[in-house]
Amino acid sequence: MKLIFERGMEGQRCTILPDCDVPEICLDVPGRGLPLRLPHVSENEISRHYTELAGQVHGVNNGFYPLGSCTMKYNPKVNEEAAALPGFTDIHPLQPEDTVQGCMKVLDAAKQMLLEITGMDDMTMQPAAGAHGEFTGLLLIKAYHDSRGDKKRTKIIVPDSAHGTNPASAAMAGFEVVNIPSGEDGCVDLEKLREAAGEDTAGLMLTNPNTVGLFDKNILAITSIVHEAGGLAYYDGANLNAVMGIARPGDMGFDVMHINLHKTFSTPHGGGGPGSGPVGCKAFLKEFLPGLQPAKSEAGYTFTAPRRSVGRVKMFYGNFLVVVKALTYLLVLGREGVRDASRNAVLNANYMMRKLQDIYPMAYPETCMHEFVMCLENMKHDADVTAMDVAKALLDYGIHPPTMYFPLIVHEALMVEPTETESRETLDEAIRAFREIYDCAKKDALRLHEAPVHAYIRRPDEVQAARKPVLRYFFPDAVRNPAQ
Ligand SMILES: *Cc1c(COP(=O)(O)O)cnc(C)c1O
Repeated sequence: MKLIFERGMEGQRCTILPDCDVPEICLDVPGRGLPLRLPHVSENEISRHYTELAGQVHGVNNGFYPLGSCTMKYNPKVNEEAAALPGFTDIHPLQPEDTVQGCMKVLDAAKQMLLEITGMDDMTMQPAAGAHGEFTGLLLIKAYHDSRGDKKRTKIIVPDSAHGTNPASAAMAGFEVVNIPSGEDGCVDLEKLREAAGEDTAGLMLTNPNTVGLFDKNILAITSIVHEAGGLAYYDGANLNAVMGIARPGDMGFDVMHINLHKTFSTPHGGGGPGSGPVGCKAFLKEFLPGLQPAKSEAGYTFTAPRRSVGRVKMFYGNFLVVVKALTYLLVLGREGVRDASRNAVLNANYMMRKLQDIYPMAYPETCMHEFVMCLENMKHDADVTAMDVAKALLDYGIHPPTMYFPLIVHEALMVEPTETESRETLDEAIRAFREIYDCAKKDALRLHEAPVHAYIRRPDEVQAARKPVLRYFFPDAVRNPAQ
């Protein structure tokens, strides 16, 4: 496919700019006066160009997208309409409070609903993503221990079934990470936790459901072991879509947590955002929250700064329009709808898992939450077909590959999250695809090594693409700098 710069010809254009109505200023900038190398294309061509580009990627609008740990679900278009209302977009973050009462109400209403769903007492909308929320939550934990003069608590316990961002955030926040292994059942090993917890424990971070898709059955024991040692319990609630409306981290003994609005609460994501990772906490931590909090009084909403705030983690109020989308989603679903979404997420995952487990061994055969993990070690051993081959073959069926080789504690892992918004028909088609691929692995493994045959890009060198991405374009007539 041609780049936009390689299309069109001199003189073609698709916009006619109005005459300049401000005085021209001449700045002495090097290169000024040289013609800009802009594409010369008509509106028709630009439209075709982007349509063709869009046809080369797989999104939720193209087909099933069971990417585990990412929640690539259908996001209602009505959310976009709400977020595009001029009352939400044509405002400035420094406008006087009395001119943005509606927006403050949105922040507060979304917060109240999310507090009810999580069982927390207060919340900040500032963090821009899940990992950013983790970092913020850890700053609260640090501020709490510091406020009590308890300086020896330097360690954060992270089970090996945690999301990869957990240890990274703990290190970023200046803590030492203590890893503990899971038991045979995929849950936290309580003995190992007791050994690890002590006077130097600042807290524990628990991803729940964990990265193998299980709700930790010892969750109450886990939080009480951490509390007895004097630490705080952090809940990674990025994926709340198996839990919301059914169980609340606040009731399980967690002191602080984050949620990903861009996963559970329906904002399309990928390609870098925008996201939102609100952090909820119990009342004893609220004075440390970052940013301004909308507070309701007789006269309307005003912003107040928490007394001993850890400081801002993002400008102003976070990604406000993502909060608008989350609130729209919650209002449309309602109380029962939220619970049904969780039930369907769990039902869909278990349905697929049970329909595949006779040929694809599950890493943990227990009832799963919103996702499950298959272990393809046998297939690799017997047929020389890897998790990667199966994932690639799915592309030819119009299915986005599941998450591959994650979590690290499962070899040849494929992690599938069907999401709550897929129909049984779609799940049955995907099950059929998995089964056909399995048959193919036995009869014609070579064909799977060649897959995908229909995708635009088939088997790129992934290491090279990640380590040495080609991000620059050289015009054919440009003089190359030999040093580049
Ligand atoms: C996605 C995810 C995160 C990180 O969220 P980002 O918005 O990508 O930073 C953290 N924990 C879990 C369990 C996740 O699934």
